[in-house]
Amino acid sequence: MSVPKDAGWKDVPIAGRILEPGSAAKYETGGWRTYRPQHVPENCIHCLFCWLYCPDMAVIAKDGKFSEINYRACKGCGVCAQVCPGKRGNKALVMVLDEVAAASGNDAK
Ligand code: SF4
Ligand code: SF4
Repeated sequence: MSVPKDAGWKDVPIAGRILEPGSAAKYETGGWRTYRPQHVPENCIHCLFCWLYCPDMAVIAKDGKFSEINYRACKGCGVCAQVCPGKRGNKALVMVLDEVAAASGNDAK
C-alpha cells in the first residue's frame, strides 16, 4: 500500500502493522545508519543466517550464497553480524562506523 505524500495522519496506516509481505524492500532505511556491516569473504561459510534474519531484506543472496549488502536498505541494526557464525569463530560480517567505511572507499550502493 502506498500513501500519497500529502496524506493526513488519518490516512496513514496504524504503525506496527505489516499490510503486505515483503514490503520492507520498498523503503530506503539506509539513511538511519550509524554503523554498517562489512563482509569478510574469507570467513563466510554461506550459511545465509544474515539473509534470513535481516529485518530489511538488505542482504542479497545469489545462487544460494551470500552476494552483497544493499546499503540503501541496511539500517545498520547489526543483527546480521550478531547471528553470523563465521569461520572458526571469525565473523564474516563486522560492524564498522559508516563514515569510516565510506572514507575507506566502501561507500553505500
Ligand atoms: S551469516 Fe555470516 S557466514 Fe553466514 S552467509 Fe552471512 S556473512 Fe556468510
Ligand atoms: S545491519 Fe545487517 S541485519 Fe541490520 S539492516 Fe543491515 S544488513 Fe540487515
